[in-house]
Amino acid sequence: MMVGLVPVGGDAPVVVQSMTNTDTADADATARQVHALWQAGSELVRITVNSPEAAAQVGTIRRTLDAMGCNVPLIGDFHYNGHKLLAQFPDCAVSLAKYRINPGNVGKGSKRDEQFAAMIEMAVRYGKPVRIGVNWGSLDQAKMARMMDENAQAAEPLAADALMREALIQSALESAQQAEALGLSGNQIIISCKVSDVQDLITVYRDLARRCEYPLHLGLTEAGMGSKGIVASTAALAVLLQEGIGDTIRVSLTPEPGESRTTEVVVAQEILQTMGIRAFTPLVTACPGCGRTTSTTFQELAQNIQRYLREAMPAWSRLYPGVETMTVAVMGCVVNGPGESKLANIGISLPGTGEVPVAPVYVDGEKTVTLKGDNIAVEFQAIVEHYVETHFAPGGILRRDSKTIPIIAVGK
Ligand code: SF4
Repeated sequence: MMVGLVPVGGDAPVVVQSMTNTDTADADATARQVHALWQAGSELVRITVNSPEAAAQVGTIRRTLDAMGCNVPLIGDFHYNGHKLLAQFPDCAVSLAKYRINPGNVGKGSKRDEQFAAMIEMAVRYGKPVRIGVNWGSLDQAKMARMMDENAQAAEPLAADALMREALIQSALESAQQAEALGLSGNQIIISCKVSDVQDLITVYRDLARRCEYPLHLGLTEAGMGSKGIVASTAALAVLLQEGIGDTIRVSLTPEPGESRTTEVVVAQEILQTMGIRAFTPLVTACPGCGRTTSTTFQELAQNIQRYLREAMPAWSRLYPGVETMTVAVMGCVVNGPGESKLANIGISLPGTGEVPVAPVYVDGEKTVTLKGDNIAVEFQAIVEHYVETHFAPGGILRRDSKTIPIIAVGK
């Protein structure tokens, strides 16, 4: 299926998505954050559409982004009042590339089916795909109660956690079937069943992948903050992605105070890239450091080069196709330095404690120059830049294994 211009599902690459945390009614702030997420590499961006004020601004946000040259598809996240907002604000319904519907938050009792149908009718009318996004924190309580009653009567009742997982899956699949019965094509439906426990998420998605053909959106909900959120999301997503499960991913991190929202995009990209599934930005291999390298020079160089590569990527990705596959090694001493440097496209091995204060640089496995003095970081960056220009410029691509690459001689 296509979400805006982005293919999702089937043989399409796993897509990175993210979500804003601005008030959607503040069109300027939301457009700025969507733009930042897109620049960081988010291929789909979800915004909450929770009120008439928010819905009224969606078209403006879309047009502001278009004027900024940002064509990232916007997904509208609806709860409780989506049926009303989509009907009352056609500009919002048209401007969104996909609607996210949470079957647990569509409406209560007899209103539930009616309001769900109204949202699906809008999706059909405007030709928009829909994500049926179930979340364990907002599971349809009426359904859960029914299933608990039935389970209590069963000859072999499920344990409580297995019943919860089954309820999530059934809620998603039944809602998808209902959407199809209402006229939405099956290839316009994406499913997600998010939980906050890693093992539950893996179990739910394995089961879901066996039981349906719909593209699946993966994410550990409420993953948390800092290293906990990153590790939990990575642990869950890596297992599933390795099994070929998942068509889009989001890493739901709680930003630390002052932290950029774009961290979740970087983490999602790094999960895919370190697993060899997709490449986004040149990877920096760095040793952890130990007692053999007691200065911070090597840590600063690794940090600076990583930041430099990421900041250069928006321009490089347009100018230098394939540059995202480049690898760079920054190593702390000669024990493993030359070996890792030779494996990377460009590697530098800084002097460890007591070693001669020089830093050999390797390009495609060959030692090309030895840097020394106070400008090693600047000179190494210049070598990286030169490598990119000579190896990835269209029409001027040098072979990676070329032994005749002109290397600028600096620091000799
Ligand atoms: S490469 Fe050198 S500095 Fe880095 S961890 Fe290994 S021994 Fe320590």
